[in-house]
Amino acid sequence: MAFRRRTKRIPARTPGELDAMQAAGEIVGKTLQAVRAAAAPGVSTLELDAVAEQTIRAAGATPTFKGYEGFPGSICSSVNDVIVHGIPDAKTVLANGDLLSIDCGATLDGWVGDSAWSFPIGELDLDVVALNAATEWVLMEGLQAMVPGNRLTDVSHALEQATYRAEDKFGVSLYIVDGYGGHGIGRTMHEEPYLENEGKPGRGPVIQEGSVLAIEPMLTLGTVDSAVLEDDWTVVTLDGSVAAHWEHTVAATADGPRILTRRY
Ligand code: MG
Ligand code: MG
Repeated sequence: MAFRRRTKRIPARTPGELDAMQAAGEIVGKTLQAVRAAAAPGVSTLELDAVAEQTIRAAGATPTFKGYEGFPGSICSSVNDVIVHGIPDAKTVLANGDLLSIDCGATLDGWVGDSAWSFPIGELDLDVVALNAATEWVLMEGLQAMVPGNRLTDVSHALEQATYRAEDKFGVSLYIVDGYGGHGIGRTMHEEPYLENEGKPGRGPVIQEGSVLAIEPMLTLGTVDSAVLEDDWTVVTLDGSVAAHWEHTVAATADGPRILTRRY
């Protein structure tokens, strides 16, 4: 007997649920702005973590990262060759020329927003300026594939193609970090499916009206390879090259992609 398997779909949120997710996401956006405003040479990433937690709690939300699988911070703070998951630390003091990546999550009324950006501390080397601009651009280009009817890896493919175009546009060689990517998100931060930042199009579950993904390109100037430090969190580039990380929580709607973690 033959059974027809239904094509899998990424869960759809109602318009009201998307509004609730955006309310959480806007707190993340506000928190990232506050952290950036506080970041300067001589400031530690632990001090930035306090700014983030205060901002999130003042908005009536809870820091999603804090306690997540034992993570101690309300942000991940990743400097230069740290790609993601840097732990806020009093000993990590920012200096002129650092590229700082801040990743943050907030939970409000049971819904989660997740977003990240990289920004300069003082003045960056020109190739790092290009890396960071390219990574933001790749996110904004890639998320255009977040439309109903597309499949999961259409987003992966769009991110990969944008990365290739960004090399010409920004005049640098870019490397897509292997083994890390985006994810479904809703009432918990990390939900199915896992979203690769590269790959062939037309595969995986179907994106519906109301499907939500956290889309997060991670690019480096030298390698696709990474290692996890002894703290079991900090992910660094294997060759010490600088990495950038940009992320938005994005819904597919009839009107096109809707960014739920805007930073106004
Ligand atoms: Mg994140
Ligand atoms: Mg994420």
